[in-house]
Amino acid sequence: MKTTLSTMKTFHYFILLLLVIPFEVTSCNSVSNNTEELSNNTEDQIIAQIETETPSAIAPYGAVQDAGSLSSPEITGILLMREEEKMAKDIYTFFFNKFDYRIFNNISKSETVHAEAMLRLITYFKLSDPSTTTAGTYSNPELQELYNKFVSEATTVEDALRTGAFIEEYDIADLKKLISETGNSYIIRVYSNLKRGSENHLRAFTRMLKLKGIVYEPQILDKEEYLSIINK
Ligand code: ZN
Ligand code: ZN
Repeated sequence: MKTTLSTMKTFHYFILLLLVIPFEVTSCNSVSNNTEELSNNTEDQIIAQIETETPSAIAPYGAVQDAGSLSSPEITGILLMREEEKMAKDIYTFFFNKFDYRIFNNISKSETVHAEAMLRLITYFKLSDPSTTTAGTYSNPELQELYNKFVSEATTVEDALRTGAFIEEYDIADLKKLISETGNSYIIRVYSNLKRGSENHLRAFTRMLKLKGIVYEPQILDKEEYLSIINK
């Protein structure tokens, strides 16, 4: 059934492209990178651009350090990001099951890798893992509230894609803050890798919205920073 749906979607976008190309070519001759923009905007290509990573590439194991060497904001930050990555994974899995849209499956796999990378950091610093093993449940009450809100509010696939872009903005903003709060080069390296992943996901969600004729407006990041990520 999924294969059939996916084949139908591909066919649908093929037809859409056939309809859109002559219009674009005749109406937008003055736009020099028109061809490149069109080629970036097929569903398959957007999904192909979602990076696949491994936890060891993001957070390799090293000698175990004493958690006592971390400050309280550093510890709070690590525990928060562990559950924040799991929340992203759970929400995208929920959206994939609800809307059968491939992008959510691909990005949820990437979030699984991010959550595992955070677990490596927790193990490395001998902290205790706050994460539950049940989808949609969190030790952090704020994340629990966000999860409940996000899954109940998204009634269309467009809502879900917008929610995805919002979650990635949320992650980028948190990671930036946490990077600024630590001088530990190992933590900074892990957060920077996660942030690069979030930027990649933000590009994927907003390009998918653009494919549906929706221009996403940033909700958390300032416009300039948002555009610098999107136009990468
Ligand atoms: Zn992530
Ligand atoms: Zn992400």
